[in-house]
Amino acid sequence: MEKIMPNRLDRGFYQHQEELEEKALQVLRSGWYILGNEVSEFEKEFATYIGAKYCVGLASGLDALWIAFRALKIGEGDEVIVQGNTYIASVMGITLNGATPVFVEPDEYFNIDASKIEEKITDRTKAVLVVHLYGQASNMKPIVDICKKHDLKLVEDCAQSHGATFDGKTTGTFGDIACFSFYPSKNLGAFGDGGAIVTDDENLAEFIKIFRNYGSQKRYYNMLVGANSRLDEIQAGFLRVKLKYLDDMTKEKREFSQRYLNELRNDKIELPRIREKATHIWHQFVIKTPYRDELMDYLNDRNIGTIIHYPIPPHLSEAYSYLNVKKGDLPITEEYANSVLSIPLYNGMTKEEQDYVIDAINAF
Ligand SMILES: *Cc1c(COP(=O)(O)O)cnc(C)c1O
Repeated sequence: MEKIMPNRLDRGFYQHQEELEEKALQVLRSGWYILGNEVSEFEKEFATYIGAKYCVGLASGLDALWIAFRALKIGEGDEVIVQGNTYIASVMGITLNGATPVFVEPDEYFNIDASKIEEKITDRTKAVLVVHLYGQASNMKPIVDICKKHDLKLVEDCAQSHGATFDGKTTGTFGDIACFSFYPSKNLGAFGDGGAIVTDDENLAEFIKIFRNYGSQKRYYNMLVGANSRLDEIQAGFLRVKLKYLDDMTKEKREFSQRYLNELRNDKIELPRIREKATHIWHQFVIKTPYRDELMDYLNDRNIGTIIHYPIPPHLSEAYSYLNVKKGDLPITEEYANSVLSIPLYNGMTKEEQDYVIDAINAF
């Protein structure tokens, strides 16, 4: 069998090839490539899908994060609480504005441990950034309550959680601003970079719309120093095609994940769990094992690719040595970094591929 990759973006493309190719031609022939009809229609459709009032398309998920904190006026001298085990972009969204991340350990579902947030609040704390990691909604009830009680802004990093819910409410609708990425491997992925913010706050949405376009609302009249962070027309067009199928794509990933949950049987491996009231859209299927590196090599020898999300937690990365958070300061985060492994999962995965992965892992 051909090598089984951790992800196969081409399979997702071929599932909707005809419509995507048609959309590409339509945008190419339109003569309009930046901030046009595709972007504004996508913004409406995505806001509706999430259940929020406004969506503003941006160039990437990282831009959505740092522009969100900029819009909330959180910067130098401010602290933002975030989980230790996240993709480093979450933390960069905070620090690019000069604010300081304060790390909280994760719970057994890989999301922020809500019971450990309050002890980290100081008089400099301005916000909590919740990351719905791997596609599972975080424990939103206590987090929303804590933010209300302490008058903190709540920002959601939904880069991995398009459509996941907690207690029936969609991630991205709990806080002041939610940040999405449409990087190709995300559950709603473009064919290049893309991102968006979603909010119910008209003023924030308006600010971000202006900020993303050099701080101008009217061409060549610049109200503020902004960025160039626009979602391309062609990517917005592709996203509109894929958004129609997002629920189907999620359903397929749920079925594959359920098979893994039912059929993976190995005492050396801990399977992912889903919190009561939370739903999971399975951005990644992440197992845990103390024999992680051996398992990775073993699978690689059998032509099965896997990935570690993420091998170095942000506080231990070179980029954040200046924060002076030391090895050992976040033991659970560090243990996860040493024991997690994402196994192959993607739209269009064949039954034979999944059989092969299951048999190999069970025989480890
Ligand atoms: C992918 C991702 C981002 C960044 O998105 P980009 O579009 O790659 O900039 C931020 N946070 C999380 C949790 C992510 O997975």
